[in-house]
Amino acid sequence: MILGAGTAGTMMANHLARKIDHKNWNITIIDEHKTHYYQPGFLFIPFGTYSEKDVIKKKADFIPKKVEYISEKIEKIEPQANTIKLENGNSIEYNILIVATGCKIVPDEIDGLTDVSIWHKDAFDFYTFEGAMALQKKFENFKGGKLVIHIAEMPIKCPVAPLEFAFLADSFFTKKGIRNDIELIYATPLSGAFTKQNCSTVLGHLLSEKNIKLIPDFNIESVDSNSKKMISFDGKEIDFDCLATIPTNMGDELIENSDMGDELNFIPTDKHTLQSKDHDNIFVIGDATDLPSSKAGSVAHFQAEILTHNVMNFIKNKPLKPDFDGHANCFIESGFGKAFLIDFNYDVEPVEGKFPFPIIGPMSLLKESRLNHFGKMAFKHIYWNVLLRGLPMPGIPTQMKTWGKKL
Ligand SMILES: Cc1cc2nc3c(=O)[nH]c(=O)nc-3n(C[C@H](O)[C@H](O)[C@H](O)COP(=O)(O)OP(=O)(O)OC[C@H]3O[C@@H](n4cnc5c(N)ncnc54)[C@H](O)[C@@H]3O)c2cc1C
Repeated sequence: MILGAGTAGTMMANHLARKIDHKNWNITIIDEHKTHYYQPGFLFIPFGTYSEKDVIKKKADFIPKKVEYISEKIEKIEPQANTIKLENGNSIEYNILIVATGCKIVPDEIDGLTDVSIWHKDAFDFYTFEGAMALQKKFENFKGGKLVIHIAEMPIKCPVAPLEFAFLADSFFTKKGIRNDIELIYATPLSGAFTKQNCSTVLGHLLSEKNIKLIPDFNIESVDSNSKKMISFDGKEIDFDCLATIPTNMGDELIENSDMGDELNFIPTDKHTLQSKDHDNIFVIGDATDLPSSKAGSVAHFQAEILTHNVMNFIKNKPLKPDFDGHANCFIESGFGKAFLIDFNYDVEPVEGKFPFPIIGPMSLLKESRLNHFGKMAFKHIYWNVLLRGLPMPGIPTQMKTWGKKL
């Protein structure tokens, strides 16, 4: 049984449907929403590059025919009874459970942020379709003032997305001819631009080159909706005319109901096998884990390949393979039709080199290029047609390769 038909759950359904013995096993996947969102596309909506048609498709179109698909909200997992409970009151038993319920923003965690006078009027998220669309409307008429890009706390999914948003905003308002009328501020709880040191140095320089002011170590306590100010726990204040914030990211409340998660509802997971730390017949994948890897679709893709082997091994009573190395690769849009590409894992920081093939590339790592930007834009087609369907991606290794990289 797979809980969640987002990026990771859909990939698992496709992989397992090809591998499993359908005479002895049934695969069921459950999700409360009928719509599949291409979340990386939300980044481009505020700037008018993408619209609804780029980011929305029907979930059912990606679930293989041999998999039973239930469209219901899951209320609770009862691991002792190997049962899940649905909101409609039904209970379903499982032999093996894969939790792929992801994570979502919880703006109510910040006092004052969702006050009706400012939420989706002057303070926005772009991590939901609704938030990104509201911000697109705001930017259409935004003539000038202080635009603050803000992260509430880590971890967040796609940790590079707020930086990309800042670079794209610089590019967007420059092209509109009003960049000089807009003060861009990047406020983060981190002590630099990014979580990884090498990257933080490169991207920190880029922020200052583009005249985007970095405010590090800003730990938000509340928002004053009357004076449009963010206030930190140590009394610092940042005022804004328009706020693009990434509120606290948390796993679904079903994890809390099931008493299976940490304080942010992330599930303790073995960092190499993806087995739950508490229950042998439960596996966790994607943003729902508590792993120190990035919460990203690329990571879910690598995890899905490894988890498919491990679920098959578990069925055959064979030992699990500790093969997940935290591998992630992410494009970072830097504006004006260019992007960076980073490749890293649990142990190796993003480094310079070529990707996917050593020496010949053709893409450059930790360097800005037009080709990287085309790679990012092509990712949408790869996502819908290859990645979600669990099809092989030639040349993209599941584990990070260090050959040809400047370690
Ligand atoms: C703005 C933005 C930009 C991004 N950019 C990139 C990028 O460039 N590259 C990249 O690799 N990644 C990117 N990501 C991250 C990527 O989208 C996620 O990491 C990925 O979707 C995680 O997959 P998942 O399956 O774990 O979670 P999701 O895809 O979020 O799926 C979780 C599913 O579980 C379902 N669910 C949850 N709780 C319940 C319940 N109680 N009952 C029933 N169903 C439930 C949800 O409806 C959902 O369908 C970006 C994300 C955002 C928001």
